Amino acid sequence: MANTIVHNGTVRVPAPYNEPAKDYAPGSPEAVRLYAELDRVKGEVRELPHVIGGERQFDGEKVDLVAPHNHAHVLGRIPKADEKQVQAAIDAALAAQESWANTPWYERVAIFLRAADLVSGKYRDELLATTMLHQSKTYHQAEIDACELADFFRYNAHNAAQIYEQQPTSPAGQWNVMDHRGLEGFVLAITPFNFTAIAGNLPSTPAMMGNTVVWKPSEKSALSSDVVMRLFEEAGLPAGVINLVHGSGRAISEQAMAHEQFAGLNFTGSSAVFRGLWKTAGVNIEKYRAYPRLVGETGGKNAIVAHSSADPEALLVAMVRGAYEYQGQKCTAASRVYIPRSLWEAGLETKLVETVKGLKVGDITEHETYVGAVIDEVSADRLADALERAKALASHTLLAGGTVRKDKGWFVDPTLFVTTDPSAFTMKEEFFGPLLTVHVYDDAEVEWYDLLKLVDGTSEYALGGSIFARDHAAITEALSVLRNTAGMMYVNDKPTGALMGVQSFGGGRASGTNDKTGSPLALQRWVSGRYIKENMSPDLDWTYPYMGTSGN
Ligand code: NAD
Repeated sequence: MANTIVHNGTVRVPAPYNEPAKDYAPGSPEAVRLYAELDRVKGEVRELPHVIGGERQFDGEKVDLVAPHNHAHVLGRIPKADEKQVQAAIDAALAAQESWANTPWYERVAIFLRAADLVSGKYRDELLATTMLHQSKTYHQAEIDACELADFFRYNAHNAAQIYEQQPTSPAGQWNVMDHRGLEGFVLAITPFNFTAIAGNLPSTPAMMGNTVVWKPSEKSALSSDVVMRLFEEAGLPAGVINLVHGSGRAISEQAMAHEQFAGLNFTGSSAVFRGLWKTAGVNIEKYRAYPRLVGETGGKNAIVAHSSADPEALLVAMVRGAYEYQGQKCTAASRVYIPRSLWEAGLETKLVETVKGLKVGDITEHETYVGAVIDEVSADRLADALERAKALASHTLLAGGTVRKDKGWFVDPTLFVTTDPSAFTMKEEFFGPLLTVHVYDDAEVEWYDLLKLVDGTSEYALGGSIFARDHAAITEALSVLRNTAGMMYVNDKPTGALMGVQSFGGGRASGTNDKTGSPLALQRWVSGRYIKENMSPDLDWTYPYMGTSGN
């Protein structure tokens, strides 16, 4: 750390703020700049490396990276790490640990503040273009993803400062200090495909707190993860602090989690994978030098619950945006809705069906597109299967969509079912696609309390949720009955769109360890406290007055 700056002063981290999102209206200056970047990325086949101890390694069996809305288009290739490369990544993380842990915290934080400015400036277009083309996000969805990455860095810098500020009191004659140490060993970060921001956040959160990391990004978003890794380096992150290895999540995690210096897992992805990783930690528990920290933010089955006093127009907007933006591939996407018959039959059904049928599905570089392709063929097939199962049920009526097309891209038409069976699989399981199921309840018969109990008990997940009502007593009752149903509950708003520093996300039950990504709670998981007491005037007599011998 030759370049460490030592300040004689109490350091204050710049106040965090949310990066303002640009509009990308057709022909706007930001859109014109982005068209050029989209053309540049489309015109290349990028050979992406592992980055281990600052070295780029290209060897390994290759995996093609394609555009989901045009799967014949190969955008790049990643190598699959073998055991030697995974071992090298672990060794590089362990080798960098001491000097990184001893780097003043404000120096570490400064790197990520520089990274935030690189996101909002120099790398913004490249982040958007790679996220759009490889993850099939529209202009708007890719822009809010990039903004969230900058927000994570700025809010986490602020949150880190808050943690370091937590110090014990020092009575007369003592000076007590809390040393917020990083963990001993390395942290494994495994990231999902659906947010470039989460991919950048999971390795950087432990790193900011003095840990070194092995990062396994999703192969379904590797193009944007490569941009994130380059901007970490450009911001000044020393070699070995974050080591990126591409390849099989199962193989990399099995090897890394069998290492005695495995110190923690920062995971976001599906509940099934997280449960498997937890078991792996259990099997290896006797090997570890310390109990590892296991952090996982996982699936969701997010409900919108409408009361008879709800504003139907606001409800319609929340359903359309909440369920179909980014093809429903958000952990907080709305996927089950409870609507009172009085609203449904007073025009809401007709308007909703008309709106869903009108959503344009297609190539995300076309401005009118609202719904792009789902991420891969496995996802398209899983959704096709769910649609067929639902169509076969007498309790389900298909109101819109219901078709999957795989010829050019993996397109699933925005699909709307209405069901008379509130405990059907469509009301319970996560599909991670543009599929919304509505249960119409008879508000003349069903008590609001009973409906809320049904909502709470239907699914194993507890991530996001929305309550729509104008009657305040109904809102209060819903907030009470649904207290453990969601880690993020929205009133008269859609369940998606958490804004860092304002609503940090995370949920309980099968949805995760609820460590509230982007908040001080999430950073707290990556430090291990050490109290230091200095006695300013050590006792010189070992006896106590009660013994009657003191001073003899
Ligand atoms: P996924 O679980 O398939 O993959 C996540 C990561 O785990 C990827 O890097 C993948 O390669 C790796 N992986 C896959 N199988 C593995 C295994 N057996 N062992 C170790 N690693 C393995 O999830 P995904 O499809 O990338 O993302 C979608 C899921 O993520 C959804 O369930 C969604 O709800 C969830 N998600 C949750 C949040 C949240 O904050 N709660 C946020 C985003 C996404």
